[in-house]
Amino acid sequence: MSTALCVKKLIVNVINDDNIDRRCCSACGWVHYPTNAVGVVVLITTNDGIVAILPHHAPDQFPAALPGGHAEYGEAPEDAAIRESFEETGLHIEITSCLGWEFIPHIAYPGPMIHFYFEAKAVSGEIVHSEEGRVHVYPIEDFPPIAPERQGSRKTLELYMERLNSGS
Ligand SMILES: [Zn+2]
Repeated sequence: MSTALCVKKLIVNVINDDNIDRRCCSACGWVHYPTNAVGVVVLITTNDGIVAILPHHAPDQFPAALPGGHAEYGEAPEDAAIRESFEETGLHIEITSCLGWEFIPHIAYPGPMIHFYFEAKAVSGEIVHSEEGRVHVYPIEDFPPIAPERQGSRKTLELYMERLNSGS
């Protein structure tokens, strides 16, 4: 069985009744269906407070972020959250809730994204700094400001605070 793709030049065509231009092959019928990328952000609680990433080049007035990143192709958002948390903080986490999700249509790269916002607790591991930045735990009332462009981190903290303040 051959696994080679045919080498016809791709054309752009509307192939369904959805009026959407799609890149496709007129010879073999291959169609490119782009999909939204998936991102995750995790608010990790410990006995001492909330785990912050302090990215190396963050501006002084907005030093903080929350751990997170992209889900790999075929990876569940929860699994991405667990993996990214460990990679960026050295902590093994247990997800306690999904605080919410958000569709972000306009991101230059990788394009439209769906962000999942999780709450988790650290269950084991030791804090390790990564290339993403230093890791520091802050009591909630001392958590430093998050830069406006870190939309996912800000939203996650906001959802967490809303929930705390609603007492549920
Ligand atoms: Zn083809």
